[in-house]
Amino acid sequence: MKAVRLNGARDLRLENVSEPPTPKYGEVLVRVRAVGICGSDLHMYTDGRIGDTIYDDPLVLGHEFMGEVVALGEHALDGNHQPLVVGQRVAVDPACPCWHCELCENGHPNLCPNHHFYGVYPTNGALQERMIVGSRNCFPISDSISDGAGTLLETLGVAIHSLDLGKLKIASTVAVIGCGPVGLLITQLAIQQGASAVYALDKLNWRVEKARQLGAVAWNVEEIDPRNAIQTATNGRGTDVVFEVAWADATVQLAADLVRIGGRVVLVGIPGNDILTLQHSTARRKGLTLVMTRRMKHTYPRAIALATTKRVDLDGLISHHFTLEQTPHAFDQNANYADGIVKIVIDL
Ligand SMILES: [Zn+2]
Ligand SMILES: [Zn+2]
Repeated sequence: MKAVRLNGARDLRLENVSEPPTPKYGEVLVRVRAVGICGSDLHMYTDGRIGDTIYDDPLVLGHEFMGEVVALGEHALDGNHQPLVVGQRVAVDPACPCWHCELCENGHPNLCPNHHFYGVYPTNGALQERMIVGSRNCFPISDSISDGAGTLLETLGVAIHSLDLGKLKIASTVAVIGCGPVGLLITQLAIQQGASAVYALDKLNWRVEKARQLGAVAWNVEEIDPRNAIQTATNGRGTDVVFEVAWADATVQLAADLVRIGGRVVLVGIPGNDILTLQHSTARRKGLTLVMTRRMKHTYPRAIALATTKRVDLDGLISHHFTLEQTPHAFDQNANYADGIVKIVIDL
């Protein structure tokens, strides 16, 4: 069967790989139907690493995915502990925590130190025709959720977890730095959660426009001074919460500058150089609360509920579709922010 493997920085190859084995206890065989490309995939693609995780063998990327169950191992219960059925369409949570360490037992499986994760070294991801996944990672989805939207449930899960960490109060003000898929989902959720205003910032005009369509007051940071704009819009106060959903470079300082005294900054983006830079006096004098988003918890059921009831727009974030064979080109386009790209989905 076919798989796309990353052999080094910017070196993706379509290769023939062996078929997966038969699923064992608690596992299922899934035929992958669609895979989204994520910012963290782009980090691995361009830098050959994410944070301090460096790979040295070829790796199949892809952690935002959905597929169809084709074979069941024994005791194949889904993420809601219900029996899975052959033929079911499922979204797959890529995180595989150990479920028995202190953090897992305390309800923080996203912080499990013994976890592995589909599509992050050394565990292969979904840019392949078929793969074995844990049955517990599978969440059935109805036909009202498209394949592409099914891949975005992972992204939506990250946005939901970030909103949980933001602890928004009704009618609070929010800034979102970065209007990629996660930023656009956070924008939608913040509006739903009762924010009185969401100010969204990006460098790419089509993403600014998308944020505006979704209800944000959105600006291109290359056309206005975001500090002045937010100061003016909030009468010099700053916003209650800021979500940093960009590349976590100069935007971390920007987040601290935009938030109000005593406000909350949620850091979602991942910096290419693995360094967090923030002027200490800004954070100290404002008495800021800084929280880091680390993946997500049990958010798939909530993400599916929002998608099923169409309370978030997922399909509208997908700007491009490519085939598995076109994956190297798709990554290249995405890494270069080619015109109009918001979310790319690879359809198998
Ligand atoms: Zn992702
Ligand atoms: Zn654990």
